[in-house]
Amino acid sequence: MTRVSISVDFEPDCPPYLSSTFRGIEWGAPALLDLFADLGVSVTYFTTGQVAERFPHAVRALVDAGHELGCHGVTHTAFDTLDERTARWEITNCAERLRDVSSVTSFRAPYLRFPEPYLGLLEDTGFEVDSSLARYKRSYYAPRRPTTLARIPASMTSSVYRLPRVIRNPWMLALRDPVVLFVHPWEFVDLTGEDLRYDCRFRTGAFALRALREVIELFQRRDATFHTIRDLAAELERDA
Ligand SMILES: [Zn+2]
Repeated sequence: MTRVSISVDFEPDCPPYLSSTFRGIEWGAPALLDLFADLGVSVTYFTTGQVAERFPHAVRALVDAGHELGCHGVTHTAFDTLDERTARWEITNCAERLRDVSSVTSFRAPYLRFPEPYLGLLEDTGFEVDSSLARYKRSYYAPRRPTTLARIPASMTSSVYRLPRVIRNPWMLALRDPVVLFVHPWEFVDLTGEDLRYDCRFRTGAFALRALREVIELFQRRDATFHTIRDLAAELERDA
């Protein structure tokens, strides 16, 4: 049986191209919450400290709906551009802000770029799961530092679910267990007219929401089970 984790990287609009607007949080997030409630799926929201500060009601809403709150740094800066002191601040400050709202033990680095030597910063800050690796990136095969953290890699890049069904469905169903997908709230706002990289804007808005629903239903029809990142890590540990 396939286990599926959906995660939402809860961040400004399409960084680094836009990143000073939050239309995704304002307009995309409520539609996403409705979708997950309708389909009965619990997900993980990797949230930036800035989003938590500016939109406390949006963060409260996802926690109240039973979803997991995870940390995505404060400013959505790539960790491989940060010195250790700043990296530590990004992690501890984000954790502090989010832990006012809920227990937070899962982390994902912006752009899925996280230097292995910084794993110690996550261990020091009480994190138990890192979801910064990506199976589809070459860095997935680089040497890893030993860590107490469970590593839950993303299965594929986020825009794939917006591809035409005939390409997308076989691609999705060929992914190996556990399947870890991620989306962003700004994908559910119509950005098709914006001056962005093509994969950031194509089929955004209502189309994306419909596509995500189809993907979840595709797995549900095949009796897949849905888990938050934290629960998935616990389940994999039990199986090990
Ligand atoms: Zn992000």
